[in-house]
Amino acid sequence: MDFKDTPQEAEFRAEVRAFLDQHARPRQSSTESAFDAAGSDGDRLGIAKKWQKTLADNGWACINWPKAYGGRDATPIQQVIWNQEVSRYVTPDGMFIIGQGMCGPTLMAYATEEQKQRYLPRIASGEEVWCQLFSEPVAGSDLAGIKTRAVRDGDDWVINGQKVWTSGAHYSDWGLLITRTDPTQPKHKGLTMFFLDMKSPGVEVRPIKQINGNSDFNEVYFTDVRIPDSQRLGAPGEGWKVALVTLMNERLAVGSGLSNSVLDVFKAAQQIDLEDEPAIQNKAVRDHLADWYCREMGLKYTTYRMITALSRGDDPGPEASISKVVVGANNNESANFALDMQDMGGILDDEELSGFGNQFQRQFLRSPANRIEGGSDEILRNIIAERVLGMPADIRPDKNVPFNEVPQGNVKQ
Ligand SMILES: Cc1cc2nc3c(=O)[nH]c(=O)nc-3n(C[C@H](O)[C@H](O)[C@H](O)COP(=O)(O)OP(=O)(O)OC[C@H]3O[C@@H](n4cnc5c(N)ncnc54)[C@H](O)[C@@H]3O)c2cc1C
Repeated sequence: MDFKDTPQEAEFRAEVRAFLDQHARPRQSSTESAFDAAGSDGDRLGIAKKWQKTLADNGWACINWPKAYGGRDATPIQQVIWNQEVSRYVTPDGMFIIGQGMCGPTLMAYATEEQKQRYLPRIASGEEVWCQLFSEPVAGSDLAGIKTRAVRDGDDWVINGQKVWTSGAHYSDWGLLITRTDPTQPKHKGLTMFFLDMKSPGVEVRPIKQINGNSDFNEVYFTDVRIPDSQRLGAPGEGWKVALVTLMNERLAVGSGLSNSVLDVFKAAQQIDLEDEPAIQNKAVRDHLADWYCREMGLKYTTYRMITALSRGDDPGPEASISKVVVGANNNESANFALDMQDMGGILDDEELSGFGNQFQRQFLRSPANRIEGGSDEILRNIIAERVLGMPADIRPDKNVPFNEVPQGNVKQ
C-alpha cells in the first residue's frame, strides 16, 4: 500500500479539514469528550443529534453509504481519511454507533427497497436511534444459544423473552432483534431476525447501573410483543446468516471506535515525578511505554492491511478482531499504569481533584467493557487462532443437536 495521499485524496482531506475546522474543536487528549458538560442521557442525546444533523446537512453523515440512503458514496479510502481527520477533533461519538455501524449495514443487506428508503436516511441523520437486541442472560459469546421465542400468529409474530446488555435501549426508537423460531432445529438453524419499534406494547426497558455511575445499557423484557411479518429480515430460520452481517460490522465499528491512549500516558509520564525524577526517565516506565508503542505500530499496519482489503472490495476480515483485542488490552493496561504512576492520587475519582482531568480514572473504569463488548478477548483470540492461524477449531459438542435437546444443567429447553 502507498501511504501518501494521491492528489484527489489530498483534496478530499483538505475538504474534510475545512469542514471540521469550521464546526468542531481540535482534540487535546484521547479521552476528552464532547459530553463533558452533559448531565443526563437526554443531554448527551441532544448534543449527539445536533452534531449528527450538522453532518447530514453538510453531506458528511455515514459517508460510505449510498447517497440515496443519506450517505455520500465515499470510497473506503475516503472513509479512512474521514476517520483519521475526525479523530483529531472532539465530537459527540458513540450514540449512533449501533444504528450506523451495525443495524444500518444489516438493513442494507436484508431489508426491502422501501424499508431502506424509510429507515436508513433517518439513521444517518441521527433522527432515529437503533439498538441491538442480541445478548441474553445465558447467550453472549455463544449467541446462537438465545431463547427469546418468536411464534407466528397470522400476519404477525409474537415475541416472549429477555435480552440483556442492550446499549442505548432506553433512548432507542428501533431495535434489531434475534429470536428463536424453531427449537427443534440445531441452535444456529432455528433463528429468525426482526426489527421492531421499541415503543411496541409489551416491551419493557430496565436500565442497569454501572461501576462508573452511568446506565448505558439495559435489560429488555418482551411480553406478547407483536411484530408484523413485514419486519422480518431474511427467511425464517436464516437469522444466523443475518446476525453474521451485524457481528462482522460490529467488530469493525467497535474496534475502530476505540481510541488509543498511549500518547496520553507518555505525556503524563513527562509530568509525574517518580523517585525524584520525571517518570519518563524511569527504566520500568520506559520499558512499558516502548512495549505499548510497538503494539501501536503493529496495530497501525494491521489496520492498513484491512484498509487495503476494503479498498479492493473485500469484506472486513478477521484483522478487525486483531485490532480490537490489542486496543482493548492497551486501553485497560495503560489506564491502570497511569493510575499507578499517580500513586495515592490515582484512587481519587473526581473531575475537579484528580490529576489529568480525571481522564485515566474514567478510562480505567470503562476499559474492562472494551474487552467484552463486540466479542470478548478470549472469543477474539479463538477467531484469530482458527481463521488467521489455521489452528484446530474450538470444540462444539452441541453444534448439530436440536436446540430443545441440548441439556442446560438438569433442565431441558
Ligand atoms: C459495554 C457493553 C455493551 C454491550 N452492548 C450490547 C448491545 O447493545 N447488544 C447486545 O446484544 N449485547 C451487548 N453487549 C453484550 C456482549 O455482546 C456480551 O457481553 C459478550 O458477547 C460476552 O457475553 P457474556 O457477557 O454473556 O459472557 P459469556 O459469554 O458468559 O462469557 C463469560 C467469560 O467466558 C469466556 N468464554 C466464553 N466462551 C468461551 C470460549 N468458547 N472460549 C474461551 N472463553 C470463553 C468469555 O471470554 C468471558 O470471559 C454489551 C457488552 C458490553 C460489555
